[in-house]
Formats: sequence, C-alpha cells, structure tokens
Amino acid sequence: MRKILFASSEVHPLIKTGGLADVSASLPIALQQHGQDVRIILPAYRQCLEAFDKIETVATIKLDGFYLPVEILQATLPDSDVILWLLHSPEHFDREGGPYGLPKSGDWEDNAARFALFSRAIAVLALDQAGLDWQPDILHCNDWQTGLAPALIADEPNRPATIFTIHNLAYQGLYPQSAFESLDLPESLWHSDGIEFYDLLSFMKGGLIYADHITTVSPTYAQEICSYEFGYGLEGLLSQRAKEGRLTGILNGIDNNEWDPESDQNIRKTYSVTTIRNKLMNKAAIQHHFSLPENYDALVLGIISRLVSQKGIDLTLDAVSALMESGANIQLVCLGSGEASYEQDLRMLRARFPDKVGVHIGYDESLAHKIEAGADVFLMPSRFEPCGLNQLYSLRYGTLPVVRNTGGLADSVTDATDENRKNEIATGFKFESSTAKALEERLLQAIDLYKHPRIWRKMMITAMEQDYSWEKSATAYLELYDSL
Ligand code: ADP
Repeated sequence: MRKILFASSEVHPLIKTGGLADVSASLPIALQQHGQDVRIILPAYRQCLEAFDKIETVATIKLDGFYLPVEILQATLPDSDVILWLLHSPEHFDREGGPYGLPKSGDWEDNAARFALFSRAIAVLALDQAGLDWQPDILHCNDWQTGLAPALIADEPNRPATIFTIHNLAYQGLYPQSAFESLDLPESLWHSDGIEFYDLLSFMKGGLIYADHITTVSPTYAQEICSYEFGYGLEGLLSQRAKEGRLTGILNGIDNNEWDPESDQNIRKTYSVTTIRNKLMNKAAIQHHFSLPENYDALVLGIISRLVSQKGIDLTLDAVSALMESGANIQLVCLGSGEASYEQDLRMLRARFPDKVGVHIGYDESLAHKIEAGADVFLMPSRFEPCGLNQLYSLRYGTLPVVRNTGGLADSVTDATDENRKNEIATGFKFESSTAKALEERLLQAIDLYKHPRIWRKMMITAMEQDYSWEKSATAYLELYDSL
C-alpha cells in the first residue's frame, strides 16, 4: 500500500470548472479501491465550507511568505471515505465566486498569492511537517495551481516522489517577476531552468522541471505538447523530458456510476444496450425541454461545453448554420457558458432558427445528463483537447461523438470509415482540419448514416460497449507510482 497525497484546485462535487474536478474525485476513489491510502488536498473555498455540516481542524501551520497562519480542515470526500484536507485561509479562499475569479470579471488579482499559498501548504504536508503524522510516498500534483509544490521540495532529502499531471497546457499561471519577489520564493528557483519563463514567473514550470515524472491526460496530447503548435514555448523542455522517459500520457477514465444510462436519475427513461429504444424517449424529452418540435427523424446534435476558442464553438456555429440554411434535418441543443461573444452568437443562432436550436447559457449538471441521453450526436470540434470527458460520456450514452482528430478525442473515438464499420469498431466521426467546412462535411456523413437505422444502431451499441472506466487508468497510474 502506498500513501498518496493528491493535490488539486478543483474536486467534484465540491468545486468544478471542468474535467480537472471530475478526475480529482474519480482517480483518488479508484486508487483507494486498489488498496492505496489516498488523501486529497484542496483549498477551502466558500462552496467547500458550506458543503459540510461538521468539519474538524486538524492542524494550524505557518507558511513562509505569508503573515497569518492557516488551518488544515479534515472531512471526507462526499460519497466516499477518501480523506479530504481543506486548506483554510479565509482571506484567500472564503469568498463569493468561482475558484479562480468571478464569472464575468476575469481572474482574481491575488491568484499568484492564493496558489503560492496552496503550493506551500502542499509542500508542508508532503514533508509531514504539519504535525499530522502522515508522510506520503507519492505527491501527485495537478495543473499550475499546484506547480510550485514539486519545486519547493525538490532538494529535501526525505521528500516523496513527485508527479505532475498536465490537464491543460494552455493555462500556465504566468505572473510578473514582481509576484515572484513578493511571494518570497527561494531565489535559487529563479532561472531559465527553473520557474522563470521569459522574465515571468511560471507556476506550471515548477511542475514540469522539478517533478520526478510528468503525465498528461492522453497519449496523443503527450506527443502534441512536444510540438510548436501545442507547446506554448514549452515544447523544447517537454521534448527533453519525453526523451528522458519522464513524460507519459494516460487517458482519463470516467465515473461509470455517475454516468450510467441504465441508472441515471436525471433522465426521463433509463436504457442500456438491450433497451436502446428507450433512448428515443430521452430524445423527445430534450426536444421538449428546449421547446423544439418532437421530431424523431431530425438528427439532434448536443453540446455541453465551456464556451471558449479551444472548444471550436465558432466552427460549430458556422457549420450548423450552413447546414440549417441548406435545409438539413438537424436540431442543436447547447448547454454552456464562457466568453460573452460566443454566448451572444449562440443566442442569435437560436433567434434565427427557433424551431431548430435550443440554447441554455449557464452551468447545469442535470441538464448535461439529459443532453447526453437525448442527443443523437455529440459535437466536440476542439482545436486541441488534452483528454475531453464529454466524448467519453457520450460513448457510454450511445450518443455518437463528432470530434476533431486531436488529443484525447483522437485516442477515444473510432471513425466511421467504411472499413471500421465493416469491422464493427466504429464509434463516431472524426475530421482533421480545424475548419467549419471540414466539420460540416463530416456532419453531412453523419446525417446520411442516420438514415440507415441498422447501421446507426450498430454504432451506438459499439460505442456503449467501450470501457473507459477508471479501472484501466488507475492501474496505469499505480504502475507509474511503482516505477518511481
Ligand atoms: P474541460 O475540462 O476542458 O472543460 P472536459 O470535457 O474535460 O473539458 O470536461 C468538462 C466537464 O465539465 C464535463 O464533465 C462536462 O460535462 C462539464 N461541463 C462543462 N460545461 C458545463 C455546463 N455548462 N454545464 C454542466 N456541465 C458542464
């Protein structure tokens, strides 16, 4: 049994902006089921404090560079018995809003201090210096918010092995040099082979340089980030670490209990491979929800997404409006929030095609389940996609994904080519170039195939039979922990 400290700035169901939160709950639970002693450390955001009736203070610590002491609170992760430690510093985390800022006002101005504090606390726990009498064998950090922790303990003689997982290289935690100075970070870290990145402080580099091993969330993304196109200037460093055998891609899994069409309480009618016809009732339900005609013949396209450029929302808008103009029998149901211009464009599309488009701007987990169950096709034309979870949920719900051939999308969807269909392994539709035209062409093929119910049903069944549970991924992480 290994002791694993899992550090993340988001954990479902307590606080979530994206896939990181899902992974940070499911992976620790899966590791615990494999007999490991796992503990999670997360900032005590207001939402987290409100989620627990009773919460115990187990340590009070003073962190270098910060004036006031902070507390470690202990609870258990909901629906599990994984121990959860919450870093309680009211000044930094107990405030209205999301984990990184207010929805429309951008990031908090003190994010460098907030996540330097978090990284400092992770380092103290990793070295068993908080008086908790628990020293991990492995410190598993996730994304830039935890990136300074491996750097802070790199030279400590009794430190645990460190792993840093990149969930999205696009977010790096870059701050001016003045932030480095005000945070009182060790001078020895400030150089180009350290956490300096072209005169800026890079939290992400703390993980990339100092962790014993780097992982990212799909094999294809692990290769892509070593290239100029996806590397954001870090491709040289990442290629070097890959050459040393210190960069691995492990595809995320999904929580098969939460995302299970056979027992999903959010949907009108549960279904499985053997009762697949029941999916139609969910199609009617989602059409009704969005006030669209309950038309079985229309191909319903679903989207659940952060509305940002990464997700190719502009490609969707252009491709779908071209198809609708040309009279294609499709409907679009979209749930998302993000950049105001995309929200506005989606509302305008709805205004243009009121009987074909349904839009819900916001964040709604229950509606996300209803869309997965009700749509025929799930759209993910991402420009890049480290792993992506929604295409995995879609496969499980028999909602065929239409994806760009990148990152985790490339690794999880098998294209409906003639050959793959003949071999009965096709699960969705892939396209290469990041253009609306390429998406539109692939959608035309999907529309065409949908007119052949037997072929479509076969693909749905193949998709639903795929196994993307955490079992496989957790085993891969365990093997990696062992190798360290
Ligand atoms: P990313 O982490 O880049 O946002 P992923 O596909 O890895 O993308 O994970 C997104 C997660 O967030 C999924 O669980 C998805 O269902 C959820 N999600 C995104 N937007 C919404 C929304 N508006 N309402 C409900 N769930 C959402």
